Amino acid sequence: MKEIAIYIHIPFCDHKCIYCDFYSITKTENVDLFIEVLKIEILGNSNYLGNSIITSIFFGGGTPSLLSVSKISEILEMLCNNFNVSRNAEITLETNPGTVNFQKLKDFKKAGINRLSIGVQSFNDNELKFLTRIHDKQLAIETIKNASDAGFENINLDLIFNLPRQTREIWELNIKTAIELPITHISTYSLILEKGTILNKLVMDGRVKLNEEDFDASLYELTIDFLSKNNFDQYEVSNFCKSGFECLHNLAYWQHKNYIGFGPSAHSFYENKRWWNFSGVKQYINRIKASGNAICSEEILSSRQLLDEYVMLALRSKGLELLNLENKFGKQWLNNNRSYINELIKNKFIIEKENFINFTPKGYLLCDEILLKFK
Ligand code: SF4
Repeated sequence: MKEIAIYIHIPFCDHKCIYCDFYSITKTENVDLFIEVLKIEILGNSNYLGNSIITSIFFGGGTPSLLSVSKISEILEMLCNNFNVSRNAEITLETNPGTVNFQKLKDFKKAGINRLSIGVQSFNDNELKFLTRIHDKQLAIETIKNASDAGFENINLDLIFNLPRQTREIWELNIKTAIELPITHISTYSLILEKGTILNKLVMDGRVKLNEEDFDASLYELTIDFLSKNNFDQYEVSNFCKSGFECLHNLAYWQHKNYIGFGPSAHSFYENKRWWNFSGVKQYINRIKASGNAICSEEILSSRQLLDEYVMLALRSKGLELLNLENKFGKQWLNNNRSYINELIKNKFIIEKENFINFTPKGYLLCDEILLKFK
């Protein structure tokens, strides 16, 4: 049976954070109808799910933890009753401090959620205010401790670095605070200025000043160094974990495995085909009601596109397994790039070991530029 990963987009948020360009809305009056329609969409994909074993389910958003436990249970039960969900499936819920208390976390655990991804972003109250998050440092710490007490043994934190006015000391204190908590995984991203966000307007109007690129790179370097010294291994450009706690769902994306996304704006990938849904909740609901799907567009990837994506995703994460590459795509890529690879090895940007090539920490720093030069 083929392995498959499932992503479920829950588009509701308490409010819109100033930096966020994920598709989310703050009106929750359509929640019941949304869940009904979501179930129709999932059941309508039995051609993909029917012959597969589901190895991970990821509730992302938006803020899925805003939903009641019974709604999340309803979706999980429907999946388990109709499809083959692996007994060891990783089932993640994106959770925001301020939307869950100890009892709700305990109930999510009982409902089958076995991994939490907590949107902390910072442990500095000024930064949290700037980001317009609904929580403060104390609530973030309390939520993580509650999650652990509720029985969660696999907890990710999302953290953002290079915020305006952030110093090295503030960032170092953020990651130091994180590793002292009962967590297994850290996803950390540099602040990205997305068009259409309030933050973008503030920067354009000159009311917020961003840091220099060199400072961004120095914080990233500090992060890699600090986390690796504290037993958080880097297994992707932005992801670090304790041994054995890689996110299986993200690995499915990065290892080019099949995944199906449900809900507004969700993306899917199956063999050589990629497709994605309409973003608006109303449009999503109307489309599903009318035709059973809300596909906005799709593309068939050529073998060259598949090869380029495979190489890029593998190198950005756990490394490129050369034998696997050859079995899938032949020897051409390696022959074309052998001298460039040797140069990268000589300059300590990548290492080649036991049939794998991987970025070194120095290579991760420049990975986008390096990847562009492969032929
Ligand atoms: S809670 Fe997350 S998804 Fe919702 S607006 Fe804020 S950053 Fe975006």
